[in-house]
Amino acid sequence: MRAVLVEQFGAPARLADVEDPTPAPHGVVVAVEATGVCRSDWHAWQGHDDDVVLPHVPGHELAGTVAAVGADVRNWHVGDRVTTPFVTACGTCPECAAGAQQVCRAQTQPGFTGWGSFAELVALDHADVNLVALPEGFSASSAAALGCRVATAFRAVTDVGAVRAGEFVAVHGAGGVGLSAVAVAAAAGARVVAVDPSPAARELALTFGAEHAVAAEGAVEAVRELTGGGAHVSLDAVGLPATCEGSVRSLRRRGRHVQVGLLPAAAGRPSVPMDLVIAGELQVLGSHGMAAHDYPRLLALVALGRFPLAELVTRELLLEAGPRALAEVGAATTAGITVLRP
Ligand SMILES: [Zn+2]
Ligand SMILES: [Zn+2]
Repeated sequence: MRAVLVEQFGAPARLADVEDPTPAPHGVVVAVEATGVCRSDWHAWQGHDDDVVLPHVPGHELAGTVAAVGADVRNWHVGDRVTTPFVTACGTCPECAAGAQQVCRAQTQPGFTGWGSFAELVALDHADVNLVALPEGFSASSAAALGCRVATAFRAVTDVGAVRAGEFVAVHGAGGVGLSAVAVAAAAGARVVAVDPSPAARELALTFGAEHAVAAEGAVEAVRELTGGGAHVSLDAVGLPATCEGSVRSLRRRGRHVQVGLLPAAAGRPSVPMDLVIAGELQVLGSHGMAAHDYPRLLALVALGRFPLAELVTRELLLEAGPRALAEVGAATTAGITVLRP
């Protein structure tokens, strides 16, 4: 199969012919129809993720068709159109037993712990736990956006942040996950202030339902001003020390900070103002993707037309463009989600 191969961290990746994957007894191989290019792929390419072993194929936001099925898989068949959360859970550990597959202690992650979906084929573990059937006619590009950024934003806003109608929500970072969070919060009836250094991303945030979109410079003061003293809920959808701290400082008393961006150690450790956390009884929460069994709620929101999924994908490229698209994530020159089509 053809795949985008990383042979050296940070050096240009290349399109290469590599061996086809075979399914584990509990897994499947999926023929990739579309795969999103995400900031965490960029981190993997840069060598920021200890799980990644070279040579490596990135990619974890995928949709496609089941092409091969392991002997122990019960619920899936060749020809099924599917997507998956970026965490592929084991299904049997205590977290999985409690329904929290997104923090499975024995998880694998395509594109991190193994080869990912910047390829014609990708192997996925524990298919009966992790695959999500795509509704009839659901576009592969839209589905590719679901598995990481949209699902992450959905759960961060609705479940972890528990956003209610009428609340002010600040979203720091208006890339794929940030824009998704803006749209989900707006659909929930919240009043959203988006923060991003890029004018194009701010423009897009307004079309996704933000009431205001402000520059990163001076964002804390701007958010506090626009929300009458601070947001009820604030999300760091970037994952850098400055955006994490800025998000906590954007809150009103008793506000909830939700960490969504990944904060790789290479970017430095954030200094969370714990004095504000105690004085204002702030809540500091983490949100790490969403389990496959939670997807029906999200798919229902999309089906109702309350979430502009198609508009989130701003660029479709051939797999050949993968190495360039990966490098562009670091420069953050594009707004919305880029999808590769093998
Ligand atoms: Zn992702
Ligand atoms: Zn597990």
